[in-house]
Order: sequence, then C-alpha cells, then structure tokens
Amino acid sequence: MPTETRTTCPYCGVGCGVIATVAEDGAVSVKGDLDHPANFGRLCSKGSALAETLGLEGRALHPQIGDRSTDWDEALDLVAARFSETIATHGPDAVAFYVSGQLLTEDYYVANKLMKGFIGSANIDTNSRLCMSSSVAGHRRAFGADTVPGTYEDLELADLVILTGSNLAWCHPVIYQRIVAAKERRPEMKVVVIDPRRTATCDIADLHLALRPDGDLALFNGLLAHLADVGAVHCEYVANHTSGFPQALEAARGLSPDGVANATGLRRPEIAAFYDLFAATQKVVTCYSQGVNQSSIGTDKVNAILNCHLATGRIGRPGMGPFSLTGQPNAMGGREVGGLANMLAAHMALESAEDRDRVQRFWGSATVASKPGLKAVDMFDAVADGRIKALWIMSTNPVVSMPDADRVRAAIEACPFVVVSDIQADTDTARLADVLLPATGWGEKSGTVTNSERRISRQRPFIATPGAARPDWWQLAQIGRRMGFDGFDFTAPAEIFAEHAALSAFENDGTRDFDIGAHATIDAATYDALGPFQWPQREGTPQTESRFFANGGFYHADGKARLVPVSAPVPARTSSDYPLILNTGRIRDQWHTMTRTGKSARLSAHMAEPFVEIHPDDAAKLEIRDADLVALESPWGRAVLRALVTNRQQRGSLFAPMHWTGEFSNAGRIDALVAPVTDPHSGQPASKHVAVRASRH
Ligand code: SF4
Repeated sequence: MPTETRTTCPYCGVGCGVIATVAEDGAVSVKGDLDHPANFGRLCSKGSALAETLGLEGRALHPQIGDRSTDWDEALDLVAARFSETIATHGPDAVAFYVSGQLLTEDYYVANKLMKGFIGSANIDTNSRLCMSSSVAGHRRAFGADTVPGTYEDLELADLVILTGSNLAWCHPVIYQRIVAAKERRPEMKVVVIDPRRTATCDIADLHLALRPDGDLALFNGLLAHLADVGAVHCEYVANHTSGFPQALEAARGLSPDGVANATGLRRPEIAAFYDLFAATQKVVTCYSQGVNQSSIGTDKVNAILNCHLATGRIGRPGMGPFSLTGQPNAMGGREVGGLANMLAAHMALESAEDRDRVQRFWGSATVASKPGLKAVDMFDAVADGRIKALWIMSTNPVVSMPDADRVRAAIEACPFVVVSDIQADTDTARLADVLLPATGWGEKSGTVTNSERRISRQRPFIATPGAARPDWWQLAQIGRRMGFDGFDFTAPAEIFAEHAALSAFENDGTRDFDIGAHATIDAATYDALGPFQWPQREGTPQTESRFFANGGFYHADGKARLVPVSAPVPARTSSDYPLILNTGRIRDQWHTMTRTGKSARLSAHMAEPFVEIHPDDAAKLEIRDADLVALESPWGRAVLRALVTNRQQRGSLFAPMHWTGEFSNAGRIDALVAPVTDPHSGQPASKHVAVRASRH
C-alpha cells in the first residue's frame, strides 16, 4: 500500500504543508496539504518538484577526513579533540559555528546550547544573518522583542497590501497566490509594490513605485510626516502604548516633500497617491523582505515602516500590521533558539545578566557566553586573520553565498581546522573541509520549523536514510558528549523539542513573547502527531489570540513600543570607476546555491544559466546586445554572465541572481562582487546595492 506522510516544504519561509506519498515501488510524489493553514493545498513550482530532488547524486554518504572515508567514531573523536585543543590553547572565542536557516529547530537548539552554554562563546551565527537580521534588530528596537505581530490571513483581510523590497511572486509564491485570490474575491483591495525593478509581483500592483535603491527609508519617513499633517495619527494609541513619537516625527520631517522625491527618485504625484491611499485606509498590511533588510540602513528602514504602523495604531488587528517575510524555511526557528550571535535562547537577551543566569541554571552549565559573538561577515574576517582557528559550517555554502565570497573562500582554505556538515559532498564549501560529516536531508530527517507567521510545523521522514548520514542534532550532541559536557544525552528530536519548550516557559511570567510551554512535557507519540500551531502556546492557557499588540503589551519594561527616529541619507556608492548599481536576488525556480533544486531538470529549464538584467539605454551605451556575455567587476570580485536587456530594469542599475556557484569557473558566482558592507545594528550585508562596472566579454 502507498504511504502518505504529512511534512513541510524545505524551501522558503512560507512554510507550506506537503503530503509525500511513497508508492509500493518506492516512487515518491508530493502534493500540497489541504489542511495546512499556510497553504491550504497550494504549492509553487519549487514545492511541486520536491520529489525530483531526492536522488543521491553527489550526496555525502560517509564521514570523510580529507579524501579518506572513515567511520563516525574516528571523525567525531577528531572533531571533538581539535575543538577541545583549540579552546584549551586559545580560548573559547577561537572556535565558531556558522549554521543555517535550513537546519531544523532541534538541530539549531543543540548547536546554540553547545556553543553558548558549554563552550562559553557566542561565536555561532547563521546564514539568516544575510536574510532577516535587520528585521530582528528593528523588531527588538520597536517592540522590545523579535515578535512578528500578524498572520498570513491579515494579507487577505487587508484593504491595502504594500509589498516593499519583495518580489513575492517569485520568492514567496504561495503567499502571492493567496493575495491574488483575495484580490479576485475583493477587487477593491489595493496593492502597492515598492521596488526599483518591475518584477512579476507588479502584475497585481495598482501602483508600482520604482524608487531608487535604498530610497525606502525616505519614502516611509515622508509617509510618517504626511500622516501627521493630515491628522491620520491614532493619538490615543500613540499616547497609551508608545513613546518616541515626537522625536521620530521630527526626524521624518527632516526631508521636505521635494527632498523625499529627490531621495526616492519618484515623482511627487505618485508619492502623493501612495500617501493618500495609506492615510485613507484602515486595514493596511506592509510586507517587507530582502529589499528592505539587505541594506546598510536596513534596520532603520524596518523602523521607518514600523513607525507608520505604530503611529496609526494599525498593528495586531485583523488586516493590519507590518509583516516581515522571512526568506528561509527556518529562519524563525533559528531566532527562537537564539541562533544569532547576539541573541540568547528562547528570545532571551544575551546582554541581560538576569537572562544569562536563567539560561545557565536551566542548562546546568558552568558558563554561558557573556558577550555577543561575531556576526557572519565579522566571523569570516576573524577566520581570515587567524582569530578563529576551528570552524564548523552546517547546512550552508558560504563560499558561494557570503559577500566578498573570494575572500571567504581564501579564509576557509587557510583556516587550520574546518568541519562541514552537509547532505552534498561536492559543494564549493564542502570541498574545503578537513572533516566532512554527512547529514540527513529533507524526507529523511525529523523535527520542526517555524514559518513567517510564527507557525511551527513538523518535518517528518518518509524515505530511508542513505549511507551513514546522520541528523545534525545527533552530530552536535555527539560532539558535546565527546568534549565532556553534560546535557547532550538526546536520543530523539522529541526530547530536544520538549527541552526547548520547557526553556521558553522557564521563569516566564508573560514578560517574554516566545513561550511554547504547553509542549514542555511532550512525549514521542504526541510529537509525532503534532499538527501546525502558532506560538505562543503557554502552559495552561489555551491560545486565544494569534496576533500581538492591538492593545499595546509591548516587551519593553514599560510595556510601550518605541518609535525610533531614523534619518539616514541614501547611501552613495557609485563612482566614475564603478558607475552602476548591482542588485542581487532570487529567481522563481531555484533555491540558494542550487544543491537541491539543481537536481530537477524541470526547475533548471526556467532560467538555465546565470544572467544580468540591464536597461536598453545602458546596454546601448556599453555596446552590449541581448545574450552577449558580460563581465561585471566590483572592487571585490568579478563574474561573467549572459546579458538580458530589459526595461524591467532602471537605468543605471543591474540585477543578477545569487544561485550559481563556481563549479565550472567563477562565471555566475555573483557574491564574489558583493561588498562586505553591513548594517551597523544588524550586521546584515547590503547585497542589493553594490557599485560595479560592466563590459562586453
Ligand atoms: Fe515551498 Fe515556499 Fe513554494 Fe511554499 S511557497 S511550496 S514553502 S517554496
């Protein structure tokens, strides 16, 4: 008989429910789960092709030391010994973990516990740093915690949906489909797309504001000033539940309407049309993603958006609120366990002595890291200059995906000891490993992920584990034990989830937002059957509210939100040597560095090779014709891509996808060009605003 397994898609932060069917002959097929509240049966092209990506081509099947296959005992003993020796000789900050939003929450929990709780360093950071850390920093500044206030349903209930810095149609396709369906049901619903490019998402836009890169801070500051000018501020909400409004407004008024037009590159009538729409519409949701976050002013941009929603009290009520769209399948779960170098576990604060003491007592550890660790870009700087001497990279491919990728590759090559855990043996990063540990992949592993609306769902296994592959949590627990630490006796993911849930509720009297204490004593059978649920789920109090902050209740000590004054100018990066602005991003049918989606011929047929989009006027000036090969150069690196001449692109700017690797050359490895410039609050790289030059190859 065929068997059906309910699981969750391993790609984007929408977190769609998937039903995987294994036929009697072993063939796997997938379909959307009609009962999953994220997608109600829908899947996008990537999710629909999941069964085509389960082949074992290129899989890591056995532990390897250098080029030699070995058994787990030898590999794990070596890793534990080298990490212990490095710590004994150079201190705990000489080692680091670079992890991933692809990890399951249970993997992430054990990694964070080992590094922050027992090794005693906070040098654990994640590729989620490249994806949404500006949202985390913005949430913490405004709300006092990293809380997403709303739900996907709000996007369907809104009368105005603003999509800023988000090509939703390609990057979160099922949410896009939900908005399309809602707009068909209620044609009066308006959609505004704010994006320098005319993307596929613009197909549903009533208004497309093709602003200048990084012009959104000025745009939302101008909006705050406009809301005050036309009396659209919710004075009671502002007085009772916020502080900082006068200062934020003063900063916003630093630009005149003409100043906003100059900073954004937009015409005053189109700005006015947007502002009037926002002021006149109660039910507004503002969705934002990488175009906001991946910026040297990303956190300020997030707070400029939050300021507008706080000033109007449009938050936490049906159809209203700011909404951060996370890129990865478990960026949210990673945040919950403290997988960022500047956070503790369960949304507790690394900078709080009380929180550190609480976590230390809960874990029974001798020491908990007392200062923030190195964020991704700084971490690889420390690898490059020798401060970090032992590095464990899990489920991610930084040789392709980090900014200044050539320098990152050189740093990893020169690092005295590098461990890589991955499902693939032949990634650009795995090839540099001293020890390669084979991990289990989607369809084989068991655990939980959290999507963009705080919904925790199970990933369940439905095919056999190949070769000697083992889950990441198991590998980490083995190393913890072999390094001599207590607290790593986990035998199954259910035990880890229960501990994680217990920590979220430990001495939590409601002053912390993340609390799933209702699951603190979950047993294996209940965990196996666990259906999707949104946090919080506090022990003894059934969930009655799935939104936050309609009536205040923020997580700053005084219970009030902060409107943050923000006023940074649009960064100026171009010069006569590098006159064009490069924007990097995703395409519809590939995921990250293509290690999984690259196995599907169907997905690869969508866009088969790396390309750069260029405006016809720029192409003519540079004598570049459609389909020519183009060399792109920045002060950090070089890539060669196929020209795609299109007026979707603004004059003076380029777009190139981030997926292609250096397997056959440096051809499309676009992150080699991206500057290691980061936001000062979040440490997130500015991957969408890179000064480059282009020439025919
Ligand atoms: Fe998977 Fe995202 Fe597509 Fe849903 S929208 S099927 S989570 S890639």
